[in-house]
Amino acid sequence: MSAPSLAEVLNTPSAAALEEQYGAHNYHTLPVDLVRGEGIWLWDKRGRRYMDLMSAYSAVSHGHSHPRLVAAAREQMGKLAITSRAFHSEWLGPFLERACTLTGMDRALPMNSGAEAVETAIKAARKWASVVKGIPEGQAEILVMENNFHGRTTTIVGFSSVPEYREGFGPATPGFGRLPFGDLRALEKAIGPYTAAVLLEPMQGEGGINIPPQGWLAGVAKLCQERQVLLLADEIQTGLGRTGALLACNHENVKPDGLMLGKSLGGGLLPVSLFLAREDVMNVFGPGDHGSTFGGNPLAARVGLEALNVLVEEQLPERSRDLGAYFLEELEKIQHSAIRDVRGKGLFIGLELDPAWGSAAHFCEALLKQGALSKDTRDTVVRLTPPLVISRAEIDQALQKIHAALESLTPVADHS
Ligand SMILES: *Cc1c(COP(=O)(O)O)cnc(C)c1O
Repeated sequence: MSAPSLAEVLNTPSAAALEEQYGAHNYHTLPVDLVRGEGIWLWDKRGRRYMDLMSAYSAVSHGHSHPRLVAAAREQMGKLAITSRAFHSEWLGPFLERACTLTGMDRALPMNSGAEAVETAIKAARKWASVVKGIPEGQAEILVMENNFHGRTTTIVGFSSVPEYREGFGPATPGFGRLPFGDLRALEKAIGPYTAAVLLEPMQGEGGINIPPQGWLAGVAKLCQERQVLLLADEIQTGLGRTGALLACNHENVKPDGLMLGKSLGGGLLPVSLFLAREDVMNVFGPGDHGSTFGGNPLAARVGLEALNVLVEEQLPERSRDLGAYFLEELEKIQHSAIRDVRGKGLFIGLELDPAWGSAAHFCEALLKQGALSKDTRDTVVRLTPPLVISRAEIDQALQKIHAALESLTPVADHS
């Protein structure tokens, strides 16, 4: 292929411009064009290097282009990638066994995106409610938390408490009730005879990196058990080492009745999700009542299995625990009036900023200028959730960049 002429180059709009022109405007994208990734580092098309402090919303816990995962994916892609569940294939059984053994669940159902795993959990809970608990068909209620994030499908956004996620997309699917996050009393009062399940994130990610009071999750689990209500833990973001334990539930020795995994389950290469559950919950599904064309395909199963193996062998949960504690401790030492709060568990950290110093989105732009990438959530919170393969020296570098970005801020004009 010959090199493009100057005229061609000048007439070629940038990839970002094409995205703006032809894409739906459903993301607020930072002005950076990425072309390559390796470990915790990303490069733009001009060759500038950035530290990834966001990990694609925790989907890249293993780091970008992990050599073992890339090798497994390449090999499998050249051999057999998609078969559908109409037939057995080589890797699905071993993948599901590994996922169940690691998490203490009996069975697992493979899907692709996180939202699909949550939808699967909702379907399982509703059918369990009528088949096992004896709630009249169509009457089962699922309790969710204020400030939840479980994905973007119509049913899921219908029970969101965030207006922009929900408004304009109604009518909302009925059968959900919302409670304050971290409030055991409210849950105790809300559980009724038609309550099938409690669906929650053990720690909220998109909601602003919210860590509930100690003992809350264990209390929820106990209540659920006493009242024959399923505890469905959405660990799509908090699971697989992110919070310094294999599951965030492990911090309180809680074993949920149903569990959702996604994001980093695909090793940073593919969308792979699972709904895992206890035997009697999963057994409500029979042939024909749930499925997915791509769910559990040989490529996804092979990569998912390797992602779990790498997670264990490279001790990513332990790294997250130790390095997260160090990162948090160093962040807490920073004296700057823009910082309102620093909170987190493992490498699942949120930096809450005082709006008087600009929005969290503005801070992310300042961070980008220092060569680090992250994204705000809920206007005031900056996520600090790097790949779990980050080293201590790299955390020191991240701290320097955060310092420099803070120093570059000026208080916003007071118009009052
Ligand atoms: C990201 C996320 C989801 C949705 O996952 P998708 O793959 O984007 O559909 C669900 N629950 C939680 C807790 C998440 O963080």
